Amino acid sequence: MVLGQPVIPLEYTLPERCLNLCLFRAYQPGGQLTITTEVENWPGMTEVQGRDLMIQMSEHAAAAGTEIISDHINKLNLGKQPFEAIGDSGTTYTSDAVVLATGAQAKWLGLESENNFKGFGVSACATCDGFFYQGAEIVVVGGGNTAVEEALFLTKFASKVTLIHRRDSLRAEKILQKRLQNNKKINVLWFHEIEEVLGTSSPKGVEGVRVRNVQTNEISVINCKGLFVAIGHAPASELLTNQLDLHMGGYVVTKPDSTETSIPGVFAAGDLTDYKYRQAVTSAGMGCMAALEAEKYLSDIE
Ligand code: NAP
Repeated sequence: MVLGQPVIPLEYTLPERCLNLCLFRAYQPGGQLTITTEVENWPGMTEVQGRDLMIQMSEHAAAAGTEIISDHINKLNLGKQPFEAIGDSGTTYTSDAVVLATGAQAKWLGLESENNFKGFGVSACATCDGFFYQGAEIVVVGGGNTAVEEALFLTKFASKVTLIHRRDSLRAEKILQKRLQNNKKINVLWFHEIEEVLGTSSPKGVEGVRVRNVQTNEISVINCKGLFVAIGHAPASELLTNQLDLHMGGYVVTKPDSTETSIPGVFAAGDLTDYKYRQAVTSAGMGCMAALEAEKYLSDIE
């Protein structure tokens, strides 16, 4: 049983002899990759649309014999063998091994204007979209490791990056903060929150952000062509609370160099467990590891 998106080259690792593999998917088949545009770091393809890549993976998995079931799993019971998953359809599925690959989702500010410009200047992924802002001014919002890393990464493309943070101290690691301070392209705007994303409708695009000083309530406008929201990611691990060891705000703990979780027979791959790299290729690699480890686990318990 695999929960999540088929960013997993399962066909290379699952022998036909005994495995009956089901992949469950729900409301956003393909996950975060379906909301990005060009993917330029997928090996073997100079460029591919995220959505197309996910369709190809899904077809590939199906062609290799994976049964793909569209049923949102709303309950998991990992406390007994066989493991149980209950879908919105009311069906209870059982399995001897589970690979969890439910991913993570970027958190958003929740502004209507932010939603309006998503994909048209508003992004939550610098590595996906930074390239499109060559020579442009960019705003990043957030104060953690992600925001600082995104700001640093974006200086490769941007003429200027403004990091907006609602307080006067960052959560980011000291070494990242030092790099931030030393980067002449980055300006930090402390004690500010974004109130509105400003832009044009034809052509649709961002022109700036309206910000408020949270101490003085003073309003000002920062010109920019891109807004990168980096206020954290939330791993989709709600189903796993009190069942598996989680850390770093809900990411599944896996053993070093492995996808094994705290429960034998349960494996986790991709953004559900990876708070650091979060790339399609690293998720696929972890998916391959999980498939190999699940197959070995099933062989050993036979
Ligand atoms: P994070 O550490 O939770 O930081 C989120 C930041 O966004 C905080 O500074 C927070 O402000 C701000 N924020 C949250 N909601 C906001 C809102 N509505 N409006 C404005 N600002 C808002 O998230 P993260 O940076 O994604 O990191 C998540 C975890 O992954 C962390 O444990 C981090 O260490 C880890 N991580 C590690 C690496 C690495 O090791 N290289 C890279 C990325 C992430 P406040 O500070 O005021 O709360």
